[in-house]
Amino acid sequence: MLEQKGFNILLNQGKMFVRSGNQVVMEADREHILYYLTAKAVDGESNIVSDESLRLWHMRLGHPAEGSMKELIKKGLIPRDNSNKMDPCEQCILGKAKKALYPTTPLGYIHSDLWGPSSINSIGGRRYYLSIIDDYTKSSGSIF
Ligand SMILES: [Zn+2]
Repeated sequence: MLEQKGFNILLNQGKMFVRSGNQVVMEADREHILYYLTAKAVDGESNIVSDESLRLWHMRLGHPAEGSMKELIKKGLIPRDNSNKMDPCEQCILGKAKKALYPTTPLGYIHSDLWGPSSINSIGGRRYYLSIIDDYTKSSGSIF
């Protein structure tokens, strides 16, 4: 139905954008197989709800940093909205997330601790010990 009325629909990374020309008139987030409308109803000529417009500009401009967005508002290059605050952008957060380091080979990632001098000598007469734990094999050992 929307397509027959001249709207364009874009599905990207769990989001749906319905556009009329270059203007996004509806935005929805996907949960499983359904899209839930996130934008509020619009009225008048504007098809963008003011509290969503800053986020929309953030997405249109390729996800610039908040400081850059404020600079663009200050220069009048993008419209000011009621709060000038943007909710955290999920795509930016996921884009900055770092993959946890997982070892792929024995001794690829180890933890060690050197301790001493001990007030009591070991049986071999040593006063320091080194413990090593291998993340890949989960094995550990101590050297006196
Ligand atoms: Zn972003």
